[in-house]
Amino acid sequence: MSASQITGLSSDNGGPAYTPEVARITAPIYSRLSSVIPEIEWPVHAPYIAAINEIKCERKAVILSHNYQTPEIFHGVADLTGDSLALAREAAKTDAEVIVLCGVHFMAETAKLINPEKTVLIPDLEAGCSLAASITAGDVRLLRERYPAVPVVSYVNTSAAVKAESDICCTSANALEVVESLGSDRVIFLPDEYLGRYVAAQTRVEVILWRGHCEVHERFTAEELRVFRQQYPDIEILAHPECPPDVLAEADFVGSTSGMIHHVGETRPRRVVMITECSMSDNVAVEYPEIDFIRPCNLCPHMKKITLPKILHSLESMTHRVEVEPGVAQRAREAVERMLALGSKKKDPGSQGIA
Ligand code: SF4
Repeated sequence: MSASQITGLSSDNGGPAYTPEVARITAPIYSRLSSVIPEIEWPVHAPYIAAINEIKCERKAVILSHNYQTPEIFHGVADLTGDSLALAREAAKTDAEVIVLCGVHFMAETAKLINPEKTVLIPDLEAGCSLAASITAGDVRLLRERYPAVPVVSYVNTSAAVKAESDICCTSANALEVVESLGSDRVIFLPDEYLGRYVAAQTRVEVILWRGHCEVHERFTAEELRVFRQQYPDIEILAHPECPPDVLAEADFVGSTSGMIHHVGETRPRRVVMITECSMSDNVAVEYPEIDFIRPCNLCPHMKKITLPKILHSLESMTHRVEVEPGVAQRAREAVERMLALGSKKKDPGSQGIA
């Protein structure tokens, strides 16, 4: 029996219905997610998961999910998961005809840059990013006029137009490696000021900063972290380098999302708090049920625009297609490919404890 037969009945809201067959085929998924999704919510998610997993095969599609997507997406329908760098690499490797990017718009653009011949879909075109919105291609051209011959490193959280004005891209996982790879004693680093400061603290290269911030990570405070320590003296605090410097100074470990996940897997702390977007803790907690995750919740409103009903609609209607103007795409692709060519042979700057 196919999932369309299984989910053919409509629920009250017009979506696929929760039938005994849906319950049966999604039971193995729920058994993994029961610690992070209440049982009462499963009949809402399960019909969409069954329908999406069927239609993605029909469409020869692959679903890529960022670590900040909700568990029903991350563990329920995604084929490939990870941070921005991992998704960029996986997008380059896939032989699927269609890529559905469950993340924000710059990630979908990056997937399209690397896979110009594939159809790249994003379930909600409004899924943006405060960092990407903080800088334009015109701003980069002005920086180049102000600092002639200084190379420009762009965090992947930028539009394709900004990448096209840049020499090379980086992620939070490889920012230090990228900055040092250029052989220059000065670089322009944009747009995340705090990640730039974190990199600058670890290198002799002079880093010229832009004042862009992530609206999720900039909300954390050092005082919050001190309260966690008072409440849980044995807690290990992991923080993302997009957090302000005083927050990073209170952390036991600073790392990209992939760096944090790797650290938890390696060290298996008894109790941990991840100072980053809150779905990440849920997704990692599924893998490590023996660890006590304290979960402060700063949600990314852009990431949360992606939902199961929108993913299903995206695959049914083959929308929203992400396109990049060819001239921009060519130059942006070169900046991304220079980053990918560096590979992962050097260490993640986030793999260093700083406390
Ligand atoms: S978490 Fe921050 S950096 Fe990531 S998409 Fe949201 S606003 Fe952008």
